[in-house]
This record gives sequence, C-alpha cells and structure tokens, in this order.
Amino acid sequence: MKYEYVIVGGGHAGAAAIEGIRAHDPSGSILLLARENHPPYQRPPLSRGLWFGKSTRDQLPIHDEAFYRERKVELGLRREAVEIDPEHRCVWDDRGVTYDYGKLLLATGARPRRLAVEGAESESVHYYRSLEDYLFFESYLPRFQHALVLGAGFIGMEMAAALRHAGKEVTLLYPDEYPLRRILPRELGLFVADYYRERGVETVSGEGVVRFEERGELIAHTTGGNEVTTQIVLAGIGVEPSTELAEAAGLEVGNGIEVDEYARTSDPYIYAAGDVAEFPYLALDRRMRIEHWDHAIQHGKAAGANMAGANQPYTTMPFFYSDLFDLGWEAVGDVDASFDTHAVWKEEHREGVILYLSEDVVRGALLWNVWDRVDWARQLIREGKPMTTAEREKVVAEAVPASPEP
Ligand code: NAP
Repeated sequence: MKYEYVIVGGGHAGAAAIEGIRAHDPSGSILLLARENHPPYQRPPLSRGLWFGKSTRDQLPIHDEAFYRERKVELGLRREAVEIDPEHRCVWDDRGVTYDYGKLLLATGARPRRLAVEGAESESVHYYRSLEDYLFFESYLPRFQHALVLGAGFIGMEMAAALRHAGKEVTLLYPDEYPLRRILPRELGLFVADYYRERGVETVSGEGVVRFEERGELIAHTTGGNEVTTQIVLAGIGVEPSTELAEAAGLEVGNGIEVDEYARTSDPYIYAAGDVAEFPYLALDRRMRIEHWDHAIQHGKAAGANMAGANQPYTTMPFFYSDLFDLGWEAVGDVDASFDTHAVWKEEHREGVILYLSEDVVRGALLWNVWDRVDWARQLIREGKPMTTAEREKVVAEAVPASPEP
C-alpha cells in the first residue's frame, strides 16, 4: 500500500499534522497509525477536567468521524509501526503490513519512566498517561481508600489533587524539597506544598521509595527508613521519548529525534514532532524537547504543513498550563527554576507573575492565576532586552492591573 503521507502516532501531534497537511495539500493520501484503540483524544482532561467535572468523556475525541472521512484520512488503530526502511521509504506495522510513504511523520510521543526498585512489578503499582489509565483509575475508585502518589511533577500534582477530590486519602511523596521543583521558585513551591496539605494531601518531601513489599496491602519502604502502607501507587516520575524506531532507522537522535526548524529529521523524507522531537526553539535560540499539549499541537501542525511543501519554520512559542486544585497557571518560554526569578505579586502566592531572568533578560514567564496574558509574555521574551527591577515591576503592573476595589 502506498500513501503520500504516513503519520506514526495518534497523539496530539499526529492528529494536528493532518490539519497541517490538508492546509497545503487537499488530496494527497494520508494514513495515521495509532497503537491505541481510540482515535486521537484530548489528554489534558485525563488528569484534570474529567476528575473535577469540567469535562466529560464524550468531549475527549479531538475530531469526530466526519473530520477523518471528509479529509480522506485512513485511521489504522491498534497498529504499531515496528520498523522503517528509509532507503525504500516504507514502514512495517506489527501485523507485517508494509506501507510505502512519500513523507513519514514520527509522532511517537513518550512513555512513563518506570520505577526500578524491588517490588515495583506489583500489580498495585501504576503509571498514568493514556485514556486506558484514566479508565482504570476511575473504575478502580471503589476498591481503594488510600493512594500513594510518587513524584511531584505534572502528573503527580494533578493526580494527587484529582484523587483527593474523589475522596481518597492521598500521600504525595517526592525526592525534592518542594513540588514542581524544576519550575517553581522555592518560596512558591513550599507554599504549594502547604496548600496541598491544607486540602488534605499528606506531602512528604525529600523521600523516594527503595522497595515495595506485599503484606495484604502494599508497603512502600522509603529512602528515609519510613513505611507508607497503601492500596495503590501512581508513579509520575517523568517520561522517556519513544525514539526506538528512529534509532533503528539510523536517524540522528539526541535528547529526542533531532529535527530542524521545519521539523525535518536527518532523513529529508522523515519528520518528527511533539514530545519525541528535539527541535530548535528559535525565540530562545536553543534546542529543546517539550512535553506539553500546546507544543505537540503546534509542532505537529507545522510538521504536517512542511511535509506538504509549506517550507515554513516553526517559530511558535508554545505555552503550557496546569491546575492545582483551584490554583491555576500558564507559562511560556524557559521557566527554569535555576534562573534568577522576579515575582511580582498582586496577592502573594495567589495572583501574580514570575519572570525568569538570564542576565536581566526575561527568558520565561509564569502567570499564576493570571489569565489572557500569554501573548504579552511572549512579546516580553521576544524583545530580549535587559530590564531593571523597576522596569519589570512597571511592565507587569501595566499588563496585570490591580483589581478594582470591591
Ligand atoms: P515530570 O513533570 O517530568 O515530573 C516528574 C517528577 O518525578 C520530577 O519532579 C522528578 O524529580 C520526580 N522523580 C524522578 N524520579 C523519581 C523517583 N524515582 N521517585 C519519585 N520522584 C521521582 O513528569 P510527570 O509528572 O511524570 O509527567 C509526565 C509527562 O506528562 C511530562 O512530560 C509532563 O510535562 C506531561 N504532563 C503535562 C501536563 C501539563 O502540561 N499540565 C500535565 C500532565 C502531564 P526531579 O525533577 O528531581 O527529577
């Protein structure tokens, strides 16, 4: 079988690539291969909206059936691409079917990092990434009262809040001093830990698990010599990009599949986008791999467009966001806690802007309970000029004016 475009991966990047292709090529044949048995679906609600009653399962599909039909896209669900032959421009799936391609997109995403400690193969130890994982936890709710959440990154923070909201006792255990340590300044991170505690989540900092033991319930033995007794473990300890296909095909792989500003790999007929791709972030003048929703969509779209001949560099500055119970935030640029930070609060720890600085130049911005200011933050970062403390305070005060007195 021969297709003009073959997309490997049914996540946000793969789905968005269809739109990118069709914007420049109305008729070239498209095949999307997805390992899961679901057409591409929205991922952010799996750890937020579905748990807090803000979205429903029927809203999950990214597109309805008509979208694929009208755009003449063939969906190959439960099909895993297992090998690429770049020389003959074809790809095999796990049923031994071969597809010839004109252009190939690798949007294979990332998979959860596994715990490498004794007892981690227990049936009570779970990871959280897909719709199947949501369905499992949701259906399993009546069967556990206590959950141990490992890791205080995005999944750990969002799922600790979700399970607590669902009425469970939750222990959140993380190796760092405070949650979201790679992003939040220390003071704000410590506030967030308190905030979770106030909402009934037991937070344990500076600890990891060294061993699990089954004794009717599951006992987690920690690095500090403590024991946590639980019925279920959810480990959110990061992800690894799924680069195997690319490596086996001889593509250049660093911190992900290496692509240029057109999302093209070291093979001119193969592109890569989303979580799996290491790309040049032009506005920040550095190479990066980003594991967030908006980037997956925008990068996927750009890759699709370029596969269809658009020849447009990816210049987007993607944003990302999260909700921590009723605290919400958006961020753009390089929000790296190792930078100097300047917090400008309207209300301390509740509403404000945190700027991430390199030699007084704003490289990233965290908008903490501040909305509709992502474009403003993008502009500030793009300007790239050094600013004094007073200038930063002024520019934030103008962008985020004080609320009117009640
Ligand atoms: P993550 O955000 O990278 O956080 C992983 C956390 O686990 C880090 O804090 C890490 O600490 C910690 N950790 C590493 N090894 C550990 C261990 N053995 N025991 C306990 N903690 C450990 O990854 P994630 O939370 O697993 O999320 C998975 C992916 O989904 C990420 O790419 C994330 O960006 C994405 N996601 C995004 C959103 C969003 O944008 N709102 C929501 C959900 C998921 P160190 O930092 O010290 O290594």
